[in-house]
Amino acid sequence: HAPTRRYRRVVVKLSGEALQGSAPHGLDAATLARIAADLANAAAAGHEIAVVVGGGNFFRGIKGADSGIERARADSIGMLATVMNGLALEQAVEGQGRAARCLSAVPMPSVCESFSRRAALHHLDKGRVVIAAGGTGNPFFTTDTGAVLRAAELSADAVLKATQVDGVYTADPKRDSSATRYERLTHDEAIAKNLAVMDTAAFALARENKIPIIVFSIAEEGAIAGALAGTSRATLVAP
Ligand code: UDP
Repeated sequence: HAPTRRYRRVVVKLSGEALQGSAPHGLDAATLARIAADLANAAAAGHEIAVVVGGGNFFRGIKGADSGIERARADSIGMLATVMNGLALEQAVEGQGRAARCLSAVPMPSVCESFSRRAALHHLDKGRVVIAAGGTGNPFFTTDTGAVLRAAELSADAVLKATQVDGVYTADPKRDSSATRYERLTHDEAIAKNLAVMDTAAFALARENKIPIIVFSIAEEGAIAGALAGTSRATLVAP
């Protein structure tokens, strides 16, 4: 797809799972360091980077609701999980010598700054990696939707959706060897095909605001630079 300069400001969506590496749950230090280095390198190359972190490596609201916790309350636990990841990632990016700021959509001022569009834009302008935690700050949403929301608010050029595979496939490539990868899809197609890569709310918000989504694999070192440069395999979801 398009050259690097097209993606000056981007929102990178990292699931909790991406930070978990081979650990059974929670965080894996080596994986965090690798991804943080990727983020720091992208920022050093002149990209403005905002990251939206998930929390599934610690807790997911839907699963909590299945085990008897009221859904809205379970989602609060999930949002707290994303803040744990955000703080760990903030540390890891700073460990790479790049300033980073974790901003939480759920205000917890003794822990980190609260998310506001103004604060996020300020930190991006200073070259800091912004880590937007707490999802949208509301239950019944996902961090995928949070990523698209932040991209819209911050006028980002794209959402880089990190996954475990190098794009969107016709079926799960880990289970079905005949699955093929889409090079490009429209938002309409992504919604109509009910592709599992992001929820419909996230795709719909991206469609409405004409935000391209690049689905790429975070498994390798340099994955984010590759996705930004268009040199790695990925699926582009765009109008
Ligand atoms: N969550 C929420 N509102 C949001 C974003 C997230 O309530 O705007 C909660 C929800 O319970 C979700 C959990 O936080 O299951 C973790 O986020 P997500 O499942 O998106 O994380 P990921 O799958 O990306 O690791």
